[in-house]
Amino acid sequence: MTQRFDLYNPTEAHATIREMVRSWGEEHVEPQAREHDETEKFNEGLFRRLGSELGLFGVTVAEEHGGVGLDAVASVIIIEELSRFDPGLMLSYLAHDILFVNNFYHTANPEQREHYLPRVISGEWIAGMAMSEPGAGTDVLGMTTRAVRQGDSYVLNGTKAWITNAPCGDVFLVYARTSDDPDNCRQAWSSFVVERGWPGVSVGRKEEKMGMKSSPTSQLIFEDVEVPVENLVGTEGSALIHMMRNLEIERVTLAAQSAGIALRCLDDMARYAITERKAFGKHLSEFGQIQRFLAESYAETASGRALLYDVSRRISSDSRQSLGAAAAKLALTGTAERVARRAIQTLGGYGYTREFPVERMLRDAILLSIGGGTNEAMHKNIVSDLRRIYG
Ligand SMILES: Cc1cc2nc3c(=O)[nH]c(=O)nc-3n(C[C@H](O)[C@H](O)[C@H](O)COP(=O)(O)OP(=O)(O)OC[C@H]3O[C@@H](n4cnc5c(N)ncnc54)[C@H](O)[C@@H]3O)c2cc1C
Repeated sequence: MTQRFDLYNPTEAHATIREMVRSWGEEHVEPQAREHDETEKFNEGLFRRLGSELGLFGVTVAEEHGGVGLDAVASVIIIEELSRFDPGLMLSYLAHDILFVNNFYHTANPEQREHYLPRVISGEWIAGMAMSEPGAGTDVLGMTTRAVRQGDSYVLNGTKAWITNAPCGDVFLVYARTSDDPDNCRQAWSSFVVERGWPGVSVGRKEEKMGMKSSPTSQLIFEDVEVPVENLVGTEGSALIHMMRNLEIERVTLAAQSAGIALRCLDDMARYAITERKAFGKHLSEFGQIQRFLAESYAETASGRALLYDVSRRISSDSRQSLGAAAAKLALTGTAERVARRAIQTLGGYGYTREFPVERMLRDAILLSIGGGTNEAMHKNIVSDLRRIYG
């Protein structure tokens, strides 16, 4: 079924990577997903194998820096394919490879790259990104975490909330306020690489979540953490630009997670309705209401994916795609929720139980309308881009 959806493998390398992760996912990711959802445990062994066995860490990093040398499309393919089996595992992958590695790679200086990239690309270190705070999520520029320069260090204080991989991670890209100058408010924020082992860094209790249970989430707390000046990423006050640029690839890869969920639910729903379950002597797909579930799910998934691949192929470090990235995330997160809900309805009592993965997929899908900017924030961003176009 999913073969019919392979609309975008622009090069041989993309086609190979899709095929490789698809078969590896069926063999290794699918069998463990239900258990890790139920036990709410991060599968650290399998996560590390994504790097050591498949070489999927550093996808967007150039080969001369130890990466795979591919692009946002490759990241989208990997995340879409493996989210068909375990969206939680792939949320942790996304935090590592997109929120940390991709962002860091595009902003760090040669010494910083040399020091940190080999560790995170080999999978020796697990990484994440800390932007949100208990009092500042959508209103992210209201963040209060502060870094004050003192000699050769910055002293970092504050609390970050809902940080993916915080309980298992070794290194984080942390955003903090470094200036209160009201005339220069766009240059108020800086980013730092912070290691979890440093004095003053601690991790809050693991969050108990509705979905994405195999991806660990918690607060990251900084109390008088001395961050060496060499760990400032980019120049002081430059974080807003790279924060915004990285949000675009974050949004298309979160949309890719939604696409993977929609594809999986469509597969399970179509197979069940067309070939397995009969009622009143007929396959469920003979009934008009079920046909509508199937047809709308197919059309919404296919059109959302067309937008997703169109936007992701345009993303590069010098091309801004804020409107397309927000539209792809908005379209596909809604699609994933609707398709998962229709899949549960089509499977009836079986759909509501854990016998099929569709109930897990719905729980996982809901996070994607919240993380990386809520759908309400996407409405706001899309309209502000439209004002620039039409205003
Ligand atoms: C499982 C999980 C993993 C996460 N991982 C990370 C991570 O790795 N790193 C990280 O930095 N963050 C992470 N986050 C945080 C996530 O990005 C935020 O939860 C998200 O940005 C929303 O912020 P908030 O929760 O503070 O909601 P709020 O900003 O308080 O929003 C609450 C509601 O109000 C609405 N709202 C707010 N402002 C407006 C407005 N102007 N107009 C209309 N509606 C509005 C929102 O859309 C939402 O419906 C994660 C969150 C979760 C749940």
